[in-house]
Amino acid sequence: MGDHAPGRGGLSAEPDPDPAQIEAGRVLFAQECRFIAGAAGSAALPPETLPEIAFIGRSNVGKSSLINALTGRRELARMSKTPGRTRQINFFELGRRLILVDLPGYGYAAASKSEIASWTGLMRRYLRGRATLARACLLIDSRHGILAADEPMLRLCDEAGLSYQAVLTKIDKPRPAALAAVSEAVAAELTRHPAAHPEIVSTSAETGRGIAALRAALAGFAEVAPPRPAR
Ligand code: GDP
Repeated sequence: MGDHAPGRGGLSAEPDPDPAQIEAGRVLFAQECRFIAGAAGSAALPPETLPEIAFIGRSNVGKSSLINALTGRRELARMSKTPGRTRQINFFELGRRLILVDLPGYGYAAASKSEIASWTGLMRRYLRGRATLARACLLIDSRHGILAADEPMLRLCDEAGLSYQAVLTKIDKPRPAALAAVSEAVAAELTRHPAAHPEIVSTSAETGRGIAALRAALAGFAEVAPPRPAR
C-alpha cells in the first residue's frame, strides 16, 4: 500500500478525503518544517502565532515515527528524544502555516512521581490555556487500544474542552480482525468523551497507510497559503 491509501480501521474509519484535500495535505507537508522552541515550563511556551496541532500519546506509541512520516523528515521528532528534550513540549513550524506540537510521552514506567507531576502540570497548562491549539491527535497503539495510562489524558482533553481525535498507530502490526476489534472498541470508548472527534484515523509509519489522509485532515487547520509573489 502506498502513501495515498487512506487509513481504514473498521466501522468508524474516517471517510476517504477527497483528492483536493489529499493534495492540500501533500502540499502543506512538503513545506519546510523546522524546530522553533522547546518548553520545559509554561513560562517558556513560545508566543501564540499560527494554528497548532498537538500530538499526544504514551511513550513508545509511535509518536516520533508518525511525526517523521507526516513531515518526511527523519531527524525532526528524533530531536524531541534527545536527552533534556524528552520531558518538554517541542514546537515545529510547518511552512509558516501550521505548528506541530510534540508533547512528552506519558505512562513511562521509570518516571518518578515528581517527574510525572511536573509534566502533567505543564501539559495541563498548555492544553487548557492555548488559544491557538486547533486540534489534538491522541495516538493509540492499534495492538493495544486505549489503556489505563490513557485515561487521565482523555479526562484532561475533555476538561480542556479540546477538539481531539484518536489516531491509531502501527496498523501494519495487528491482523485485520484484531485491528477492526480495537478500532471498534476505541470508537465505542470515544462516544463517552464529548470533546472527542467521532472518527478515527488509522496509520502506519512503517507502510505509509493513512499518512496522506491524516495530512489532509490536518491541512484543514492550517493558515491559508500566502499568495505567490508576482514575478
Ligand atoms: P514514541 O516513543 O511514541 O516516539 O515512539 P517511536 O516512534 O519511537 O516508536 C516506538 C517503536 O515502535 C519503535 O521501535 C518504532 O520503530 C516502532 N514503530 C513506530 N511506528 C511504527 C509503525 O507504524 N509500524 C511498526 N511496525 N512499528 C512502528
